[in-house]
Amino acid sequence: MHARAYATYAKDKPLEPFIVERRAVGSRDVALDILFSGICHSDIHQARSEWGPARYPMVPGHEIVGRVTQVGAQVTRLKVGDVVGVGCMVDSCRTCRSCTGGDEQFCEQSPAWTYNSTEMDRVTPTFGGYATHVVVTEHFVVKVPDGLELSTVAPLLCAGITTYTPLKEWGCTKGTRVGVVGLGGLGHMAVKLAAAMGAEVTVLSTSAKKEADARRLGAANFALSTDRGAMKKLSRGLDLIIDAVSATHDLPGLLGLLRPRGGLVMVGAPPDALYVPAFALIGGNKRLAGSSIGNMRDTQEVLDFCGKHGMGADVEVIDAVDINRAYERMLNNDVRYRFVIDAKSF
Ligand SMILES: [Zn+2]
Ligand SMILES: [Zn+2]
Repeated sequence: MHARAYATYAKDKPLEPFIVERRAVGSRDVALDILFSGICHSDIHQARSEWGPARYPMVPGHEIVGRVTQVGAQVTRLKVGDVVGVGCMVDSCRTCRSCTGGDEQFCEQSPAWTYNSTEMDRVTPTFGGYATHVVVTEHFVVKVPDGLELSTVAPLLCAGITTYTPLKEWGCTKGTRVGVVGLGGLGHMAVKLAAAMGAEVTVLSTSAKKEADARRLGAANFALSTDRGAMKKLSRGLDLIIDAVSATHDLPGLLGLLRPRGGLVMVGAPPDALYVPAFALIGGNKRLAGSSIGNMRDTQEVLDFCGKHGMGADVEVIDAVDINRAYERMLNNDVRYRFVIDAKSF
């Protein structure tokens, strides 16, 4: 099956039209017509080989929403016409302890990532969602609940699950005092999800201009992280911090905002090591943690949660021809909060 797509051929080349050959639908496979494909910041990192040497040509995209057009004979959960999503993984070994324990993202053989990776045969390259069609094994396809604007659903497949997982794991619930640092693609979903869970959300930002948006997204409080007085007032005031900052920043200062036994979970990925003196953790038994995307069960759960709350991401829908410009705008923080490609334009 031919799919029209956009690909890049080298780390310093723009994306351009490309044809992907998708595999024939196997007995456990599902074929989809892609409707929308979100642009994640990690697409830029990988397209430009910023996370190590990448595979080219590369078709990025791991925030995929589509409609099922064909199912294999052994597919049981999905049928033709279903609206579905595909996120960061398209397969895993399914037999290791992580996989059988339901954490496919930690597959001991490494999952087959949606692009810039290979299928589990470790030979066949994977190509992502900036395309008109894709074929994925059923286990890695989730159902999209009714009633959501589909362009706003695409970012839930990466930004949504990446922020939902730590909120769930750390017991976010009604009244939990959650701080969100970094109001970008991930941060804006953390605010929406935590607020929908009933948390009292505080957004911490270096930009006063973010306050109105933070409150519109559901934050009860806003603090300028450069304002010493405001930070002092917040001291020991938060149960959980979701840290979505991807540049070097002041971790000890943030840890000081946690109540005893509170936790800071990093979901952003600064390229340089961050400074953490032991006493920033010892006093008050603070916990510093990380979180990586999420498993398939939780991916379905975050979609269902968003369906129940009538909530998607804040998106700007673009045509494929604008992908390169969108990358530049993302690097200038000029997007609120996720670009989503209309797949009709490929
Ligand atoms: Zn992503
Ligand atoms: Zn595995």
